[in-house]
Amino acid sequence: MPVLRSAFIALSHNRSLRKFAEQSSIGGKLSSRFVAGLEIEDALRVCAQVNKQGMHVTLDSLGESVSTAVEAHRAADIYYQLLDQIAARKLDSNISVKLTQMGLTQDPALAEAIATNLAEHAHATGNFLRIDMEDSPLTQVTLDIVRRINARPDLRGSIGIVIQSYLFRSQADIEQLIAEGIRVRLCKGAYKEPGEVAFPKKSDVDANYVKLANMLLQSPIYHGLATHDETMIAAAKSFAAQRNIDRSQFEFQMLFGVRRDLQRKLVAEGYNVRVYIPFGREWYPYFMRRLAERPANVFFIAKQLFRQ
Ligand SMILES: Cc1cc2nc3c(=O)[nH]c(=O)nc-3n(C[C@H](O)[C@H](O)[C@H](O)COP(=O)(O)OP(=O)(O)OC[C@H]3O[C@@H](n4cnc5c(N)ncnc54)[C@H](O)[C@@H]3O)c2cc1C
Repeated sequence: MPVLRSAFIALSHNRSLRKFAEQSSIGGKLSSRFVAGLEIEDALRVCAQVNKQGMHVTLDSLGESVSTAVEAHRAADIYYQLLDQIAARKLDSNISVKLTQMGLTQDPALAEAIATNLAEHAHATGNFLRIDMEDSPLTQVTLDIVRRINARPDLRGSIGIVIQSYLFRSQADIEQLIAEGIRVRLCKGAYKEPGEVAFPKKSDVDANYVKLANMLLQSPIYHGLATHDETMIAAAKSFAAQRNIDRSQFEFQMLFGVRRDLQRKLVAEGYNVRVYIPFGREWYPYFMRRLAERPANVFFIAKQLFRQ
């Protein structure tokens, strides 16, 4: 349903709806399907619950495109607290960060400095920092920053990136990232991209996903395959089995609240599963992208609302 997908993506940028939704109590109830809660404590509690089910976690403090350096530092501060609490409570979680939240759009040098400091803190606490990938005007700058940080010998392996199979450029990016020993999370891509840079047809995005996943699986680095698509998952499982790639050599990643049945099934089969758990007050754009991926979610969420 490409029309509905575009409509939800357009709504994800709507400022007045965002303000209303994030401040209303109905909005809080709606978002709880995909978001762990508003506070750090909520995220840590849900993380512990998910860990108990045998799954790894990555925590995402929601927020995108800050406009001042003060806001960027405030956003980073939440991640420092998360890294400290993950270590103190012995949770099994790393962190996922968007560079626009660290000021990338206004000041790439600031975003790079903040990401470098976060990678240092992740390293010091025995943890790992994943940089999420945003829309295509930011792909190159995001790659450059991650590669420069990973090139520092003391931070090698403490930072990873995300590659989207809908982009034409992704195969070349993956070749380079593997050569540099950088951990990749492969996803299909959640933004609306023009035909000049991305495959317009879902079948091409899917075919590229399988091809890129096979490249990652064959590499000696621990990567993450982020998808809820059973066809992608089946293809990865069978490729790994054919090549004798052990289940401990890679992980599947899924979003909190999406296909919980499939998450549990993969754990029972002995695969590593990591759940991406977002939290925070600025949940609206993330939530709308989840509706764009599957407009039928609107009905599930409406049902949940009327039940409460
Ligand atoms: C851990 C993780 C991290 C991600 N990080 C990024 C990132 O950094 N940058 C980025 O652009 N994108 C990111 N994404 C989003 C990703 O790009 C896709 O938009 C999203 O995962 C949907 O694609 P899919 O692979 O699940 O396949 P699709 O073909 O979209 O869906 C396959 C099936 O999965 C189920 N499904 C998919 N989405 C939903 C949903 N929202 N609700 C319910 N069921 C659903 C449905 O059964 C659907 O038929 C991430 C996704 C995950 C899982």
